[in-house]
Amino acid sequence: MAKLIKKNYYQTLGIPPNATSDEIRQAYRRAAVRHHPDKNPNDHTAEDKFKEISEAYGVLSNPDTRREYDRLEGFSNISANSRRNTDPVNSKSTINDIFNDLFKNRPSRKFNEKNSSTKKQESPVSRNAPIHHKKKGANIQQHITVSFRESILGGEAMLQISRDEPCQKCNGEGTKSDSTKAICPRCIGTGKVKGNDTCSRCRGTGIIIHQPCSTCSGWGVNAKERKLKVKIPHSIEEGKSLRLAGQGHSGLLGGDSGDLIVEIRVSPDPFFERDGNDLRAEVPISFAKAVLGGQVKIPTLSESVVFSIPKGTQSGHTFRLKGLGICQEDQQAGDLLITVSINVPRTVSDKQEQLLQKLLDLEEQN
Ligand SMILES: [Zn+2]
Ligand SMILES: [Zn+2]
Repeated sequence: MAKLIKKNYYQTLGIPPNATSDEIRQAYRRAAVRHHPDKNPNDHTAEDKFKEISEAYGVLSNPDTRREYDRLEGFSNISANSRRNTDPVNSKSTINDIFNDLFKNRPSRKFNEKNSSTKKQESPVSRNAPIHHKKKGANIQQHITVSFRESILGGEAMLQISRDEPCQKCNGEGTKSDSTKAICPRCIGTGKVKGNDTCSRCRGTGIIIHQPCSTCSGWGVNAKERKLKVKIPHSIEEGKSLRLAGQGHSGLLGGDSGDLIVEIRVSPDPFFERDGNDLRAEVPISFAKAVLGGQVKIPTLSESVVFSIPKGTQSGHTFRLKGLGICQEDQQAGDLLITVSINVPRTVSDKQEQLLQKLLDLEEQN
């Protein structure tokens, strides 16, 4: 059976058992900065020490878990009798202060690079700005099926998506109002673990929350079902994607939202087929019309046109109707290519049968 190893969290943070919550916070800040692996490049034990500090702070910064710890470890009397008033914890400034202490000497971190050209006069880390834990939201990939005509003429389509949006209860902070935050012990606040993967413990924010918001469990976002109107541009082809900037998952802790990427699928048309900017269609005509010629009504993308079939048209012959294909800006309009097929009727009237019989007799006389 595993033996429970007793840990003196007060000793880990270098404080007496009757320390106030403010003293615990200050001690954590000092210890986290002192033992952060970035500050101790050749010390292989720094990471372990950092994790111990984080664990100690996680327990002692929450009055409920601290009371339980004190009871189990026999600190109850000391702490309860002599502890001074505990003061309200200002968790936001604490975690930012620690990040500032840790990273203030770095010339420019990723998060500030975007603005570095316009904010040269400012120090790379301003005291109250969260610097490290913003995280851009993920993109959402979806597909949408549009009709053949919509794919050519454009239009609008409704799309239902499920996306993370900022939690209303905690304003996207992820914390209960009295919660403390600490640097994530798994990734040491970098948000990344081995191989540059996103840290799963803090989701890449570099921060863990000791008393998370009950609505969003500390992530600062909740999944919401949304219906969006998507504008389909004209002349879009199967497999092409639309990118709707900022319509993806919400970022974490003030990070930008991801994008919504919509792949276009086109349902086939019963009459037309697309061939670049040309359209192709098959037009069935009767044997009599093929022989004698005549007018045929042909649908186009807008209104129907009447086309004259010449005498003696062969089955499979293709006619080109100039300019009745797809029109794109700055491009020559495509054509409509119609291929004639001879329609053989399955049943005929008595009159038709008599006439056809005469025709057949004539053919056989020759
Ligand atoms: Zn982490
Ligand atoms: Zn929340």
